[in-house]
Amino acid sequence: MLCQDEYKSATKYSELTLKLLAQHHLAPSPINYSVIYLLVTNRHAQLAADINVQLANNNTLDSVFIEMMFDKHLTQSQQFDQNFLEPLLGSLSSTVELINDQVDSGRKISSNLEKVDLALSKNKFHQPLQDVVNYLIHTVKDSREQQIFLSQELAKTTNEVNHLKSKLRETKQEAVLDALTGLLNRRGSEEKLKGLALTETHSSLMIDIDHFKNFNDQFGHFIGDRVLQKVAHVIKDSVSSNDITVRFGGEEFLVVLVNKAKSEASLVAEKIRQTVNQLKLIQRRANVTLPRISVSIGIAEVENDSSWDELFKRADEALYVAKHRGRNRCILA
Ligand code: GH3
Ligand code: MG
Ligand code: MG
Repeated sequence: MLCQDEYKSATKYSELTLKLLAQHHLAPSPINYSVIYLLVTNRHAQLAADINVQLANNNTLDSVFIEMMFDKHLTQSQQFDQNFLEPLLGSLSSTVELINDQVDSGRKISSNLEKVDLALSKNKFHQPLQDVVNYLIHTVKDSREQQIFLSQELAKTTNEVNHLKSKLRETKQEAVLDALTGLLNRRGSEEKLKGLALTETHSSLMIDIDHFKNFNDQFGHFIGDRVLQKVAHVIKDSVSSNDITVRFGGEEFLVVLVNKAKSEASLVAEKIRQTVNQLKLIQRRANVTLPRISVSIGIAEVENDSSWDELFKRADEALYVAKHRGRNRCILA
C-alpha cells in the first residue's frame, strides 16, 4: 500500500502520461506508455531532449518515433528493470488501486443518493430537489463508468509491462547463452570472468572435437548438432556449478576451472575425454551406431598471465600439441 503522497504523484504522472498519449493519438501500449511516462516524470534527460527536438521540428509524436526512442534509450540500458520498469509497475498498480478506491466511494455516494431520491419521490413537493439529485446520480454514474474503464485499461497495461519485463529478462539471457548447447557464449563468459581475479589459482581447458568435419560430411549437420549437444552435456556434467563452461567456437569449448590447480584440471580433462569417447550414439531412424567421438584437450594453469586471453592462448597451444600427437588426448601446457 502506498502513502497518500505517493498516490497523488503516481496519479498525477499517470494522468499526464495518458493525456499526452491521447493528445498525440497514441495507444496506451507498454512501449508508448513507458516512453511518455519517462518523459513526464523527467527521469531521462537525453530522452526528453530528443523528444523536444522532434516536437520542435514537426510538433507530433508517432508510434514509430516512440519505438525508436524506446530502442535507443530504454532497451540498451542494463539497469532498465530496476530503474524504470519496477517504478513504473509500482506507479501503475498504485494508480489502479486509487481508481478502484474512487470507484468504491462513488458507489457509496450513488447508493446514498438513490436513498435520498426514493425518500424525495414520496412527496411531489420535493420534485425540484429530486431533479437535482437525479442529475447528481447520473453524473456520479458516468464518472464511475469512466473510472472503471480507466482502471481496466491501466490493469491491462500493468499486465503488458509485466510481460515486457519477463521478455527483457529472457532477451538478456539469450544474449549470453549459446542457443544450441545452452552453455555460455563468448560474451557471457566475458561477463563471468569479470568476477574472477587472475591473481588467484585457476585453470582452463580448451576442448576441440576431433575430425568433426568428417563426421558432419558423413552424417550431416543435423546429427552433427546433436553430437555438439552431447559433448556440451558431458562437459557441463564433469565440472562443478561455479566453473565456467563456454562454447568458444563451432566445435570448440572452453572451461575455466575456478580455484583449481593444473593437477585437478588434468583429472577433470581426462574424465571429459574418456566420457566423450565412451558415448554410444545411435542414429535412430537408420538404427545405425555412429562412430566414436573423441576430443583433444589443452590444459593451462594461470601463471603470471596478464589477461585471460593469454591463459587461453597457452591452453590452445597445448591443444594444438594434442592434435599433433594423434588427437584423443589431454596435454598440459
Ligand atoms: P580437428 O580434429 O583438427 O579439429 O578436425 P576438425 O574436422 O574437427 O576441424 P575443422 O576445423 O577442420 O572443422 C570443424 C568443423 O566443425 C567444420 C564445421 O562443419 C563443424 N561445425 C562448426 N560449427 C558447427 C555447428 O554448429 N554444427 C555442426 N553440425 N557442425 C559445426
Ligand atoms: Mg575439431
Ligand atoms: Mg576447431
